[in-house]
Amino acid sequence: MKEIDAVIDRHERIALQLSGGKDSLACLYLMKPYWNRITVYWCNTGDAFPETISQMNRIRAEVPNFVEIQGKQPETISGHGIPTDILPVSATPMGIVGAGGGVLMQDRYSCCLRSFMLPMHERMLADGITLVIRGQRNDDPLKAPIRSGTVDGGIEYLFPIEDWKASKVLSYLGAVGATIPRFYEVLDEAPDCMTCSAWWEKGATKYLKRYHHDAYKEVQHRLDLINRAVGQHIEHFNTEVTS
Ligand code: SF4
Repeated sequence: MKEIDAVIDRHERIALQLSGGKDSLACLYLMKPYWNRITVYWCNTGDAFPETISQMNRIRAEVPNFVEIQGKQPETISGHGIPTDILPVSATPMGIVGAGGGVLMQDRYSCCLRSFMLPMHERMLADGITLVIRGQRNDDPLKAPIRSGTVDGGIEYLFPIEDWKASKVLSYLGAVGATIPRFYEVLDEAPDCMTCSAWWEKGATKYLKRYHHDAYKEVQHRLDLINRAVGQHIEHFNTEVTS
């Protein structure tokens, strides 16, 4: 931990960003010796799972400094549309104006950025944070393009488990007696929003179907809308590609 000591010693205002997933949880427990120097930040997307809220309430009671940031998922979806992994042009603002109607959609990255990534970043700036600690791992297929030690915009980033494999994370959590979120009974990753209609590769509907039937029905409805909107374009695409 000597290297971590040196990083921590360089900073007064330190944030550990927690998502509710296993990696950030492992990072939190690994950093336990420094908890009195760190503020734990969690951005509640506005559509968080009740099991994530309970987990955060447990952690809030355990750590000395905890801040909940209010995310904007419901407003983002009402203002910019339901998130999708395939965005049909007919579902964009321009497409809807042109066709005189339709269901507004947005790509998943814009939805996450608007809903919780920007609110988290804005809070870091507002609180004068100069060190951000995250549970980012190098073998995660989707991660920020920065690595541990990067300094960007006056903020240093520390990723203490970046070289860990997923199996090491789970065994570490078991060894320290952490409560592993129920999501991992069914999924490889913890979902951020109950009614998310994107991130299809994560397979979250399996989990919803088992434990949250109302949210499952809402997501299926959204997926039907996406299917119909995408289907029109696929039909034209298939004609074009085989012509
Ligand atoms: S997880 Fe889904 S619903 Fe939540 S912010 Fe990201 S894309 Fe939007």
